[in-house]
Amino acid sequence: MEIQKRLSACWDRIVSCFRKPEQPKTGGSNKDTTFFTNGHTDEPKPFNRLAPAPSRNHYLALYDYSARTADDLSFNTGDKLEALSKDAGEWWFAKALTGISINRTGYIPANYVAPVESIDAEPWYFPDTKRLDAEKMLLAEGNNHGAFLIRNCESQKGELSLSVLDHGRVKHYKLKKLENGQYFVSRTKSFETLKELVEWYTVQADGLCVRLGEPCKKLEAPTTYGLSYNTVDTWEIDRKSIKLGKKLGAGQFGEVYEGLWNDTTAVAVKTLKPGSMDPGDFLREAQFMKRLRHAKLIQLYAVCTMEEPIYIITELMRHGSLLEYLQMDKGNDLGLSDQIEMAAQVASGMAYLEQQNYIHRDLAARNVLVGENNICKVADFGLARVFMVKNENVYEAKEGGKFPVKWTAPEAIQDGIFSIKSDVWSFGILLYEIMTFGQTPYPAMTNYQVVQKILEGYRMPPPAKCPKPLYGIMSDCWKRDPQDRPTFETLQWKLEDFFDLDTTSYDDANRYHS
Ligand code: ATP
Repeated sequence: MEIQKRLSACWDRIVSCFRKPEQPKTGGSNKDTTFFTNGHTDEPKPFNRLAPAPSRNHYLALYDYSARTADDLSFNTGDKLEALSKDAGEWWFAKALTGISINRTGYIPANYVAPVESIDAEPWYFPDTKRLDAEKMLLAEGNNHGAFLIRNCESQKGELSLSVLDHGRVKHYKLKKLENGQYFVSRTKSFETLKELVEWYTVQADGLCVRLGEPCKKLEAPTTYGLSYNTVDTWEIDRKSIKLGKKLGAGQFGEVYEGLWNDTTAVAVKTLKPGSMDPGDFLREAQFMKRLRHAKLIQLYAVCTMEEPIYIITELMRHGSLLEYLQMDKGNDLGLSDQIEMAAQVASGMAYLEQQNYIHRDLAARNVLVGENNICKVADFGLARVFMVKNENVYEAKEGGKFPVKWTAPEAIQDGIFSIKSDVWSFGILLYEIMTFGQTPYPAMTNYQVVQKILEGYRMPPPAKCPKPLYGIMSDCWKRDPQDRPTFETLQWKLEDFFDLDTTSYDDANRYHS
């Protein structure tokens, strides 16, 4: 009788639960996040001591960029540019010194360039690339035998690794440093600079599995910080600047279209059903959402809120939702390493939210979007909240709306308490969706049965072909006590290192592990 009463209370809560955006209780994070910097310092890091020092305002383009407004500059990879003013933050006012826009001035995205003659400007330097990503990039179309890159070593801070494509397999070498600062792969030959090391092994293999060939091709240019220099602060844009194209899908709040901003830039446009959201509430929330910048989070570019329907303009992801992507593939092209890698990307985006004290509250495969090369980004921050109350980092749901029961943690169902740990529970369900190629969790059970069984301690069994350690991770996410669940930071490294733990995936004794 007691359990019946509790269940019916839970059910009432579920039916009347939340989804209306609220203001965060203690204001937003004041951290000024600049996550789309390319990690470069302004100081060039010269590595040829004999060459004249380049001007500190001269930059080399790392990617092609097509002007999106009359005020910015188009350029191609390898063009030289002079930064004339960096006042606009992540968009610099620059002059093209070479290339298609030579002698013209205009704005450029700062994360597309690196100081001339700095290590960041080297085409083979991929500093923030993880080993798994390095493998994916080198194995992508366009790279030939000998293609290579140098990246920061994940396991040892400050160390570098060389990843090389050898007959369709990627090998990794540690680049070590002597006490005098010289680099080496093998102690028999050391080099003052990385450039010299690369030049040496480009001429002969000298003990490496293969002579270094072409630098790894860059998969795609990074997302710019906002749509252009003048939309970074001007959040509201004229809806006439958006042309709606093909409908991409529909959700609870409205429809999503492919769009073209300013006749130049492909975007996604979420149109909100009139009356589904209070524009004031939304704009307040958007102020926080706009600060969230991470490579594994969908970037919110701009909004049109002056009239209905409200438009939310975000980056466009070619393959739509992860749920549809998994269901379409059904395991034909995607294998275990792709599944783990996609899960690791979601964990990485969520680890960032965790760090920012944001709670997503609707994490599920339908709210993760997929781009080229299985790139996954967490979407739908309409529900995310900043919450920073002393000794507490939970959010209580109060408002009405539809409730994703099968993804929701018991304490959220029972007491309406949401926290980053209830997101971790949802992440466990998302792992299940990934491993089953988009099956609905708790198949054949109704939402009501799920609530009943979960509160009694029931958990889903491992999906078919799910490795034991991965089921272990899922089960950790479903611990009854939220504090016993892992952090997203832990989930991220466990997934990124998943194949490290599995020694069978290492077969090359000559390889230095990085
Ligand atoms: P809910 O409203 O319940 O969260 P949902 O997340 O599926 O459901 P939307 O966010 O409105 O709803 O998205 C609907 C569909 O539109 C998605 O499933 C996806 O296929 C597509 N879509 C949404 N955003 C993008 C985007 N940025 N790029 C490409 N496709 C998108």
